[in-house]
Amino acid sequence: MSSTRTTQVGALLEGLADGSVEIVDLTQPLSESTPVIKLPPPFANTPRLSREEISRYDNRGPAWAWYTLTIGEHAGTHLDAPIHWITGKDGADVASIPPSMLIGPACVVDKTAETEANPGYLLTVDDLEAWEAENGRLPERAWVLMRTGWQSRAQDEAAFLNVGQNGPETPGPDVDASRWLAHERPISGFGTETVGIDAGAGGGFDPPFPLHNLLLGAGRLGLTQLANLDRLPITGALIVVSPLRLVGGTGSPSRAFALVPKG
Ligand code: MN
Repeated sequence: MSSTRTTQVGALLEGLADGSVEIVDLTQPLSESTPVIKLPPPFANTPRLSREEISRYDNRGPAWAWYTLTIGEHAGTHLDAPIHWITGKDGADVASIPPSMLIGPACVVDKTAETEANPGYLLTVDDLEAWEAENGRLPERAWVLMRTGWQSRAQDEAAFLNVGQNGPETPGPDVDASRWLAHERPISGFGTETVGIDAGAGGGFDPPFPLHNLLLGAGRLGLTQLANLDRLPITGALIVVSPLRLVGGTGSPSRAFALVPKG
């Protein structure tokens, strides 16, 4: 058994060495200009990233540079822990999430064309069942990644948040799809290219923000502001999500990678 495991890890290492397994960075660059969500009054908002110099090769530290960061937990490419939502308040903080939930099969649901036609596209149970009819049942520990092409807006805050007269218009699951994802399949999480795991219109749904409510309430995870989902196959890639192990954290800026077999 242990030699089989060694062989499998060895095959992965060989694939990384010979290029038959590619590493795709799913993370958006994090800077002072990275867009963050903007809630309407009376709600409080998260700070974006800001940095204060501690020293920069000067009399405060002649040979070194370093900074103090100020950043919201939910800024840039980031993880939502179960305790982010009131329905998950007795669940895991970021530090308590088992690593087995942070590494798993990447299952891409491609709604790029639909989102081009309708930026507020709502993912449905029919969409998810059609995906399974084509690709098989979502496996244990899967990450469902909603590919929409939204990453093309990631450096333009107004286009990325896409707030109009009727509020934010961004794609995400409808209420029934949120319930299905939370309760019908053994997934670890749901990832998106947009600023939050719910659709922009989700604040007006019943329950409000249904994916946050149901998915985090079921102890599962969210992952936002992803990049390069267009470089993943529909199935067959492995995702690795690396949040800070922040004690009491409701979320964390995260690095996310996919290991993708080529050819
Ligand atoms: Mn969040």
